[in-house]
Amino acid sequence: MNSKEVMQAMVLEKAGSPLVAQQLPIPQPGKGQVLIRVNACGVCRTDLHVIDGDLQDAKLPLILGHEIVGQVVKTGDNVNSFKSGQRVGVPWLGETCGRCDFCLRGEENLCSSAHYTGYQIDGGFAEYTVADARYCFALPDGYGDAEAAPLLCAGLIGYRSYRMCGTGIRRLGLYGFGASAHLIAQVAVYDGVAVYAFTRPLDERKQSFAHSLGAVWAGGSDELPPEPLDAAIIFAPVGDLVPAALQVVRPGGVVVCAGIHMSDIPSFPYAQLWEERSIRSVANLTRRDGQELINLAPKVPLRTSIHTYPLRKANDAIQDLRQGNLTGAAVLIP
Ligand SMILES: [Zn+2]
Ligand SMILES: [Zn+2]
Repeated sequence: MNSKEVMQAMVLEKAGSPLVAQQLPIPQPGKGQVLIRVNACGVCRTDLHVIDGDLQDAKLPLILGHEIVGQVVKTGDNVNSFKSGQRVGVPWLGETCGRCDFCLRGEENLCSSAHYTGYQIDGGFAEYTVADARYCFALPDGYGDAEAAPLLCAGLIGYRSYRMCGTGIRRLGLYGFGASAHLIAQVAVYDGVAVYAFTRPLDERKQSFAHSLGAVWAGGSDELPPEPLDAAIIFAPVGDLVPAALQVVRPGGVVVCAGIHMSDIPSFPYAQLWEERSIRSVANLTRRDGQELINLAPKVPLRTSIHTYPLRKANDAIQDLRQGNLTGAAVLIP
């Protein structure tokens, strides 16, 4: 491994403040862990919620970042799944108890003792990170490091949200056409599902981006699509979109809220929910979701649209994501 003992990292010292460049000791892998040289790490909207203090269980100081692609450089005891030199991906789900009712039911995404990468466990906005090998994924060869990074959260959470829409859907609405939506739109098109993209009103750049990925219709979130939809996924953290989305789904249709945080949902008449429409949220991911999406990606094939930034420019990437400037995903390169 690298002989130097310190690494560059971008650190959140307290909520509400920009990340700070620091030199920190390179962490060492404990039992069951791998030490990873980070080659790329995506920036996710959840990172904004941690920075802003919307999510309050962060360890501080904290290295954010849960879409990590890198190379194993050292393995701790009891690691048989990965070897030094192998490329791995590290997602948001960092650790679960394996014993609670949720874990035993295959709902490890709901484990109450879970710990999350870049939230309670230091993540990938750094040159090195350690991760529990049982929660890492091998990645398909056809993807470069930066191209693979958005699959690890935008892709996985999007995929779980898509599954929650049920089988047999023919028309799918996507609210907020960012990193997740641009990937799930491709999965839906691959499945023969018609995609309807809802962006901020008058955001023609994102609407034409959606069309370029196969959306049959793109418009503002204040518009009605030409026909009722079977399901809608809300990726934008905007509670007002819940009643808006209920108005575009057919009787029996589902509205899935994919984000970890959302502004308050305004009250709305019961008639909008009536006729067996439902609203549900999606929390985290299971390793099964991850493996399914990673297996599916080369078949579609999923193309990730990325904007790369050097690690030290992490605050610029965060700002661009916050302002909705990006078509696709922001990725930091150490
Ligand atoms: Zn558990
Ligand atoms: Zn994420």
